[in-house]
Parts: sequence; structure tokens; C-alpha cells
Amino acid sequence: MGKWIKGDLHVHTQNCNDGTLSVLEIIKRSRPYIDFIGISGHSYDTPDCFEAQYREVLEARERYPELPIFHTAEQNFPIQRHTMFVTVPDNREFALQRELVRHFHRQSGHEGIEEALQEMRYVKDGWGEDQTFMIFNHPNSPDVSYEDLEALAAENDVFKVIACVDRRERRAKQTWRIGEEWDRLLCAGYRLYARNGSDFHKHFDDGGDDYYPGEFVQDVLWVEENTYDEIIRAYREGRFFCTVGNCIQNPVFTAEPTDREGYYDVTLSFEANVEMEQVDIISNGELVTSLTDVSKNFSYRATLPGKGYFRVRGKGKPMPRKYSEGEYIPQFVLNPVFL
Ligand SMILES: [Zn+2]
Ligand SMILES: [Zn+2]
Repeated sequence: MGKWIKGDLHVHTQNCNDGTLSVLEIIKRSRPYIDFIGISGHSYDTPDCFEAQYREVLEARERYPELPIFHTAEQNFPIQRHTMFVTVPDNREFALQRELVRHFHRQSGHEGIEEALQEMRYVKDGWGEDQTFMIFNHPNSPDVSYEDLEALAAENDVFKVIACVDRRERRAKQTWRIGEEWDRLLCAGYRLYARNGSDFHKHFDDGGDDYYPGEFVQDVLWVEENTYDEIIRAYREGRFFCTVGNCIQNPVFTAEPTDREGYYDVTLSFEANVEMEQVDIISNGELVTSLTDVSKNFSYRATLPGKGYFRVRGKGKPMPRKYSEGEYIPQFVLNPVFL
């Protein structure tokens, strides 16, 4: 058995210089949208906000024992710009964030890919690969080079996740577009996954322009139980997909070898919650097929050429925004199946 759970790992609180709400208030308001949450301090606030944030996280864990609440932080990584390391509570979670600021903070002069690789080794040696992973936030702000991303992936198995949609509707081309950095890393054999995050600071209701965690974008994980360990495992193994506007649910995506070399029986199904316009199946950094007849109960089966992996992305008909003028594009990314 297993189940789908939703959450968001990129959330700022009143403890950050530009945050507005307490951990408890954020959870209260976003509880309808999420089954787990990660609270992200800013390592670059002076002084950093970790102690105050951590007190609030511990308090919130007592109040919401059924809700996994990760204590994490946006680190000012030695290569531009923000990464987050996530681990389980009993794996020295507080020390992880604090020690990274102490030893590898870009503002303290730790700059360049060599320092970044040292940081990866430091995390692996001190916290282990099994219960920890790193997310590269908004790799498009500024653009991170393929060479740097590949060096991080090649160093060890801590770097597992690249952001696609981050704050507001900002979508990283590195993760969204076909044949860009994420595809190149997958082609090179690295197992990396895409996620979305709210990067919540201040909600529309309070005069800001952020959505609550889980309200606009969602990471949807397949887990046995909603526990810290299972959530880390799901992210590390790519057992999740990410959506904008909850546009699809219950995806099933498989690829089985056929008698013909290089061809696979591919099945893809999901339930569309909004009108979907296009679904792309991608392999080896290239578009394999683009489907435009996407029904509410979508089901597709075909024999397709593939190499290395297949992945899927989709987008829907533009929808009116909930709090502001104009429209947004519902979209989703399924993480790869490897061949
Ligand atoms: Zn950031
Ligand atoms: Zn942020």
C-alpha cells in the first residue's frame, strides 16, 4: 500500500528579514493544502534566524504531531546562489544548517565550485547520504552553468533535486525546457528530480504577492506513511511529481522494454483536474511525442523510442488567478522513469 501526500519545502517565516508570519500561523493557514512542510531560514540574514526559527519549529511539532515539519535553510552556496539541505529531525538537523553557514557561507568568502564540492563532501561525511539531500533553488536566478551542476551531481549522491517553479510563477528553463540542463544531467546518467516550491514570504491577503504553501504549487509524493524518513526517501528516489494549480492527480507512468532494441512500451495515465492542452513525453533530451487530445481521464499507451529515461511534462489552458489580475498556466512535471 501507499498514498499520495502534498507539501512544500520552501517557506519563509517572520524569522527571516523579509518574512511575515510565524511558523504556527503559516501552518494554520496552509494546513488545507499540505501534508508536510519545510521551514526555510535565510542563512544570509545577519544574524541568521535559525535559533528563533528552530524554537518555533519545535513548538509547531508539538501542536501538529501528525504533520512533518522540516527545519531547513536557504544557504548562500559557494556558487551562485541558493541551495537547501534537508534532513530528518534526529540527524542533527539544527547543526546541519548552522555548520554550513560557519564553514561554507559565500558571504564569508567561500566562493567557487571547489568550495561547493567541499560542502557536498562535508554534508555526506557528517550527515550521510541516506537521510539528507540538497535542492538547487531557482537555478535560473542567476543561471547556473551545466558544468557546475554536473560537478555537484558527480561529487556524491547528496544533490538530488532541482527547482522548476519557485516564487510567484517563476519557472526555471533549466528544468522546464527540453534539452536544457536537467535533461543533459539525466542523459549523463545522473538521477535528479524536479520540484516546485512557494518560496512563501507574504501572502496576497497581507498585501504581498505570494501564495500559501501548497496553495498554488505542489510537490506530490508517493509514500508508505507520512513520516520524515519516507518524505526524504521519496525525494531522494524521485517518487514524486510536481504541479501548478493541482492540475493532475494519480499519475501512472511506466516504460517496459520490447523485443525491438531501443523501443519501449510506454503507458501514461492521470486524472486532469483542469483542462489540459498538451502533454510531452521526453527521452534522451529530446521530445518523443506531444499529445494534444488530453481528456479528463487521460490514458495513453504506445511503443516509443527511448534512451536512458522517459519523463513527462504537461500544461493546461490558462486559468484566472485567484487573487490578482490575469491568468496563470497550470502545469506539471513527472519525474523520470529510468530505462
Ligand atoms: Zn532563494
Ligand atoms: Zn526563498
